[in-house]
Amino acid sequence: MEHTILYQKEAPSYGHYDIVVLGGGPSGVCAAVEAARNGAKTLLVEGAGMLGGMATTALVGPFMTNYDRDGNRPVVGGLYREIIERLSRTDGAILPEETDSPSIHTSFLQRYHRHVTPFDSFQLQIVLDELTQEAGVDVLLYTRFVDCICENGRIKAVILAALEGLRSVTGDLFIDCTGNADVASAAGVPTWKGEEDSGIPQPGTLMFEVDQVEDERYLARPTKPVKAYRMPRKGCYKVNHYHVYNVDATDSRSMTRAHMEARRQVLDAYRVLHDETPGFEHAQLTQTASVLGMRESRHIEGRYKVTVDDVNQGVKFSDRVALFAFGMDVHTRRSTDSGNFKIEVADIYYVPYRSLLPLSCDNLLVAGKTISCQSQAAGGLRVMPCAMALGQAAGAAAALAKKSGVLPADISIPALHETLRAHGAILD
Ligand SMILES: Cc1cc2nc3c(=O)[nH]c(=O)nc-3n(C[C@H](O)[C@H](O)[C@H](O)COP(=O)(O)OP(=O)(O)OC[C@H]3O[C@@H](n4cnc5c(N)ncnc54)[C@H](O)[C@@H]3O)c2cc1C
Repeated sequence: MEHTILYQKEAPSYGHYDIVVLGGGPSGVCAAVEAARNGAKTLLVEGAGMLGGMATTALVGPFMTNYDRDGNRPVVGGLYREIIERLSRTDGAILPEETDSPSIHTSFLQRYHRHVTPFDSFQLQIVLDELTQEAGVDVLLYTRFVDCICENGRIKAVILAALEGLRSVTGDLFIDCTGNADVASAAGVPTWKGEEDSGIPQPGTLMFEVDQVEDERYLARPTKPVKAYRMPRKGCYKVNHYHVYNVDATDSRSMTRAHMEARRQVLDAYRVLHDETPGFEHAQLTQTASVLGMRESRHIEGRYKVTVDDVNQGVKFSDRVALFAFGMDVHTRRSTDSGNFKIEVADIYYVPYRSLLPLSCDNLLVAGKTISCQSQAAGGLRVMPCAMALGQAAGAAAALAKKSGVLPADISIPALHETLRAHGAILD
């Protein structure tokens, strides 16, 4: 950028909160609900007009498997389970024990895809509204985090672009669930983008939905040219097909170019479905995502960085806060690359609490896909059931820190485990 302009203005305050969660995606909603249920006065700030992040604005789905690698038992419970059970009561989700792979719910993929949870994005928005309201979370939609004011290695206040103009919020503890580590980056935490060597992130995809598909005809011909995943309602599919490469999710020009390119790809994919995919001849495009789905952007440097070996060998950390088992799903970073799932994962692997704690900034936790983790390993941890488990853990940890009057790095891990287990989390 050639010129800068000094801009100074008073930012009226929305008040003071025990815990401020920035970003209302799968990790952010779970962080806020867990924090509020543990007695903290909690604010959840979301830039879009809905909660759910990639699951709603980007139409991503199904929820990837929450089972161990071979699909024998669930390894994520807690708020994830609560959310999908609520959804299933109104046929907004098919519970994972009722699905298997390969099937039309997994686009016929088998490996690592046993027991996914197909869900309806609109019903998810409703469930997340209800969940946050019932927990007493103060929610601000249409409000973006833009900067923070730090003092003595801690965040004192965050600056928000609200619809009324610039606003501020002070807080004791902050949780970055922006999916881009926006808060950590603004607070001076060391971060990197994409693959360590090249800086290239996983590609983006503009998801879309179609209905009026003849399931039986699609079922009969599993060799299909477009990746489509059936949702709970018969004949309705999410399509996750093309890739846009080398997109920087933290750069407006890059995202603008990529989103325009992805829109053209949707037209192409829709044509291929219509013309070449049995069962899709009469399919109707019902909606395209309002947000370009980005699989990867920043990663934070934390007190522990989860490695590919940890995921491959299933190292069982004493400060674990989440278990997971999805494969390291690294989509091709360049149009010339091939294949994902290149390295095997353990039957179960574990995420340590320290990977949610940034190297600097003592009153900040980070949850979701940007935790401290090697880029390849993040290929497994980035999916939604894991993001929710990490969010729940961050919310419980922040509330415990507030209650005990200590910094997040100094909380009692046995006490954290006790809270998480009492709230349905699976830790063994
Ligand atoms: C194309 C694609 C396909 C995928 N397929 C699957 C799949 O099939 N199953 C699966 O389980 N996972 C899948 N994933 C992965 C999964 O969707 C994400 O990794 C997951 O949603 C991460 O959750 P999160 O809470 O960390 O971040 P996000 O879901 O990205 O949520 C971040 C939230 O923060 C908000 N936000 C961002 N910046 C700011 C700011 N400055 N101020 C305020 N709010 C902000 C955003 O609007 C968003 O709501 C896919 C991802 C993509 C992109």
